[in-house]
Amino acid sequence: MVRFLSTINPVRQGGLGMDMQSTAHEKLADLGYANGWGGKAPDIVRACRASKHSCKATDLGRCLTEWRCEICGYKYKVDSSG
Ligand SMILES: [Zn+2]
Repeated sequence: MVRFLSTINPVRQGGLGMDMQSTAHEKLADLGYANGWGGKAPDIVRACRASKHSCKATDLGRCLTEWRCEICGYKYKVDSSG
């Protein structure tokens, strides 16, 4: 016998990343690679640096570092190779 529990559960649809209001620290805006910014950081990053937030750097290997600020809610990668 198979019970279809889904008939009991209320309809819950997961977001597809469209909801900008939801838990900011979980869904950080991905700013891509800093190398692609053309030397000019996005406003959010400039404001962050000006505020001297303690951003977290994660070593992804292969000269790749991911920076994230959970206060501002963004992350980006830096490719320091070449
Ligand atoms: Zn910040």
